[in-house]
Amino acid sequence: MNAEIIAVGSELLLGQIANTNAKFISKQLSELGINVYYHTVVGDNPSRLQDAIRIAEQRADCIVFSGGLGPTKDDLTKETIARHLGVGLHFDSVALIQIENYFKRLGRNMTDNNRKQALVLEGSSVLANHYGMAPGMYLEQDGRTYILLPGPPKELQPMFQFEAKPILGKKLTGSAVILSHVLRFYGIGEAELEVRIQDILDSQTNPTIAPLTSDGEVSIRITAKADTEPEAWRLIEEKKLEILAIVGEYCYGVNDDSLASKAVEMLQMNSLTIAAAESLTAGLFQAELADIPGVGSALVGGMVTYTEEAKIKQLGVDPEIINRCSVVSGECAADMARKVREKFGTDIGVGLTGAAGPEPHGHEAPGTIWIGISIGEDEPYTYRLQLSGSRNSNRIRTVKFTLSYLMRLLVERGCITG
Ligand code: ATP
Ligand code: MG
Repeated sequence: MNAEIIAVGSELLLGQIANTNAKFISKQLSELGINVYYHTVVGDNPSRLQDAIRIAEQRADCIVFSGGLGPTKDDLTKETIARHLGVGLHFDSVALIQIENYFKRLGRNMTDNNRKQALVLEGSSVLANHYGMAPGMYLEQDGRTYILLPGPPKELQPMFQFEAKPILGKKLTGSAVILSHVLRFYGIGEAELEVRIQDILDSQTNPTIAPLTSDGEVSIRITAKADTEPEAWRLIEEKKLEILAIVGEYCYGVNDDSLASKAVEMLQMNSLTIAAAESLTAGLFQAELADIPGVGSALVGGMVTYTEEAKIKQLGVDPEIINRCSVVSGECAADMARKVREKFGTDIGVGLTGAAGPEPHGHEAPGTIWIGISIGEDEPYTYRLQLSGSRNSNRIRTVKFTLSYLMRLLVERGCITG
């Protein structure tokens, strides 16, 4: 099956809003294995909308519409589609009651244009709107599928996910349930990961396996189809174990986990505290941890020591180390980690220093980064990265690598994991 998305709304053409609905729907359709070949945007104009529908019908089996289901004059999507397909509109009793109740609750009079929102295409299945008034519609005609969704993303997203997607999934596979599970990896590139699980990728049928990459992280989405939920989960679990047997050491979490959320979880489970001294990342590491609610039990504090002088005067880094090795060195990162741990009295200290780029730092090439991790009285661990991204991506990756090294170290030292 291939699909086209038609986003209706003059504000899209005027550049007042971005077409995030198309992005969302495309992602959802790709999870179902439906190819999206075209995104169309058309203004609130019936004749141009009809032209867009005619064109889409020549090249797509499934047309998904966003917007124009509301009460105002410029909301004409369903009226235009009804005319184009030669089907009538009738009031959906459930939607009408919902709209009437809404106005009763507010103690306001319901105007006729609000009733109009409860009009649906004859022969369509109604997609309930739990976050607004206008219901969506799913209609099949002449072998083609038409899906009509409201414009506001907070209404469109749950409607697509929980109302339209199951119908599409069932149509595609004949299976009642489609479930997905995402495995998250760090410290391994997409190419290497694919090579290592090549046999599993080559032999996939159900579940399907889709590797995805973003911001230096790789994830694998496992999607299973089955008649029942337990059966789908069983298929996913089986495939997950096969994948983890090969690349499990790089897997840090699942679904919505992030490196920071897992690292914080691990610190909390093991009652460990942490402080950081940051040079090139200038607070990014601590900000990433602080994104996680409840981090206060683990993150005690930290310092941004950008210049040599700040490293020596504020943090207490040994000037002899800087003279001998420069600030871009394992020795400096180790001393930063040790000193910040001592200053804040934490179990763990992190020291980050390096040349973020684009300029080199002395003899050190841009992207040369040193990470120091000091745990208790042990000699600090140090790691060297040679990154090749932009300045900002190098800084972000430094933070991500630090979180993944920290977690690996804690595992090696026998800490409990979530
Ligand atoms: P309403 O009942 O709110 O009028 P509607 O189904 O008629 O909903 P529109 O009037 O087309 O939808 O759009 C309503 C709002 O939804 C827009 O002002 C905009 O904020 C948002 N919106 C519409 N289309 C998109 C889109 N393609 N991407 C992101 N947001 C959108
Ligand atoms: Mg509207």
